[in-house]
Amino acid sequence: MPDTNNSTREIRIDPIVPTNSVLVATARSMRPRKEEAPAPRDTRKHVETCPFCSGNEDKTPPTIAAYPESGDWKVRIVENLYPVLGENSTQDNLSFGLQQTIEGYGRHEVIIDHPSHGIAIHEMSEDHLAMIFKSYQDRMVHLYKSDSRLKYVLAFKNFGPAAGASIPHTHSQIIAMPVVPENLFNEVHNSKKYFEKQHRCIFCSLIDEALTYEATIYDRDSGEVRRKINVGQYVIEKNERFVAIKPFASRYEWEIHILPLNHQADFLHTTEADLKAFANVLKNSMARLEQVIGGAQYNYFLHSVPHGNEYSDCSPSYHWHLEICPRTSIPSGFELGSGLFVNTISPEDAAEKLRTVDLSDIL
Ligand SMILES: [Zn+2]
Ligand SMILES: [Zn+2]
Ligand SMILES: [Zn+2]
Repeated sequence: MPDTNNSTREIRIDPIVPTNSVLVATARSMRPRKEEAPAPRDTRKHVETCPFCSGNEDKTPPTIAAYPESGDWKVRIVENLYPVLGENSTQDNLSFGLQQTIEGYGRHEVIIDHPSHGIAIHEMSEDHLAMIFKSYQDRMVHLYKSDSRLKYVLAFKNFGPAAGASIPHTHSQIIAMPVVPENLFNEVHNSKKYFEKQHRCIFCSLIDEALTYEATIYDRDSGEVRRKINVGQYVIEKNERFVAIKPFASRYEWEIHILPLNHQADFLHTTEADLKAFANVLKNSMARLEQVIGGAQYNYFLHSVPHGNEYSDCSPSYHWHLEICPRTSIPSGFELGSGLFVNTISPEDAAEKLRTVDLSDIL
């Protein structure tokens, strides 16, 4: 009989977006299941037939920007050959009854993150990672300026087939869209409500808790210690400017969020020094993931305060961050039907594993 005394079964409410909740059910990880090794990562340096490999530049749409501007590129940005949102929509806005539509107008660009085909984030230099995020920043500035109909510019990365990457060569994407995506809207809206009540940014409060807070919960009747909470246990990686934390209500087993330590709403306000410090925390966090789960397939995406007049007063209350979501299972019907994510590893255990893993042979 498995010892289930230490297992957790609780619904955790996301502190920022309370309608997002997660069922932490650790006994479920003891369910019998077929152990399938994840498909090995494509670690080849160069692939003759890959359109993103150096030497094959003529196989992609034209270059929008390259870093550095001349000589051999280290990061290259091209139009997406199969954009999900296009520049010239010929369809009229057609709304009928309850079925409202918004024109699928937007821009979709591909950032080829590195000339080396199968390189993982933790294998890239910090300077290179800072350059990738600088390229996001430059494109976001450009796209916001280029068209006032664009309400949000989302930068994200899919890595590995389980995360929806259709091309194995390491790359990320930028989609400029005519709406603010709902999950971001909820974060912006709820953090503003919190600010109006508490006069504090909720993300800053969560960081403070993560760094310092310790609590003991006592049983009301017996006075015995029921649970000791050391919230510092959620910190995975930290330097003088950034922190990587394991969210208390993590939807994904190995989810990690990276945030600036000092309040900053807009990713576009990050300086060169910020990006370098950010790259350091990102690289180390990804190395920790590699050591703990190996060959992670993941999505990451950048959440920053949307531009536009309706968001101009959200700067004190919103705090930009990168959400990294490793994909270790496929959402079940229960998750899709209920919107309740199921996490089979307690975020505290996952954080401890990530924080304490030895990095000496990987960095
Ligand atoms: Zn390639
Ligand atoms: Zn803040
Ligand atoms: Zn977010």
